[in-house]
Amino acid sequence: MNEPQYILAKFSDSKRAYIRVDPKNAHRKALVYLPSGVDPSVRAEVARILEKSEDSLTFTNAKTDSVKLEDGRVLTPSLDAKVNRAKGLVLQYLGNHEIINKSNNDQLRTLVHNQKVNFADRDEWKFMVAANARGTGNPETTEGITSSATFGERQIAMNAHNHSLPAIVHEMFHILESDKMLNRFDMPDGLAEGMAEFLTCRATGVDARTNIGGPSIDRIYRQDLDFVNRAVKSNVTSHGEIQAAYFYGNMDAIKGLVSSYRLETQNREKTSFFYGARKSQVDNSSIKKSAELQCAEKCTVSRDVKSASPQPSRSQKKDARISGSRR
Ligand SMILES: [Zn+2]
Repeated sequence: MNEPQYILAKFSDSKRAYIRVDPKNAHRKALVYLPSGVDPSVRAEVARILEKSEDSLTFTNAKTDSVKLEDGRVLTPSLDAKVNRAKGLVLQYLGNHEIINKSNNDQLRTLVHNQKVNFADRDEWKFMVAANARGTGNPETTEGITSSATFGERQIAMNAHNHSLPAIVHEMFHILESDKMLNRFDMPDGLAEGMAEFLTCRATGVDARTNIGGPSIDRIYRQDLDFVNRAVKSNVTSHGEIQAAYFYGNMDAIKGLVSSYRLETQNREKTSFFYGARKSQVDNSSIKKSAELQCAEKCTVSRDVKSASPQPSRSQKKDARISGSRR
């Protein structure tokens, strides 16, 4: 009864691929694992095949970038092919939302086209995570890093041994973040990540992204993404306002979003403080473990802002505010 089901749906113009569907259980909706790099429009097709509404399903990324085709062949994309497909998905999103048909847009298109993505091996990756993410990230579970240099000069590095194609999409959105939003003194890091992840989900067709090696319940940027989704649902903000701030630096558009995020995180920190204090009397090692699980962020944007800004960089604020409890 709880066995996964496999359905065939369109993967490209001429190919269909197998899609795994885990049945609904007491705690969650049926879980659909979208093949790596598939067009987001497949959501509607999957819902049709399963005779369900899209809302009654949760879509996430497959646990591997290899795709099993209808004829039994397994397609394993090269690193270059993944990068190209990730760029294609980002450009499609920007085109569908008329972000690259309006003013300043060829700039965005060219930026995506020309962006280099470096894949780092174990030792090099450990070094990069330690150096760029202020030494707080776990190199094994961190999938990608984007430097926080000025718009147009950011670098993307991926963990060669643990990344998914949608993780490359997430990093691609970081290179498109407006300098105004990136350098804004009162813009919380977590909210910027929630917004980048919100855009990643729309570009890739997933409701929640998971680490390629981890369990499917281990959703990336869970709290921050949930916050942005709830804010859109309850009209605190809209998809258009998120785009206005993210791509065009119109920070007034997300004033309400920023202040409600602050309120929410204050409450979150209080809750985790009490939780931590209570647990610490019992077993120190288990708290450490649970903190690691709760903070399972798989991407870290380096905040080593190079420009000599008179305001503190976000990383300085983050260090002060969060005092090392997150990576
Ligand atoms: Zn990120």
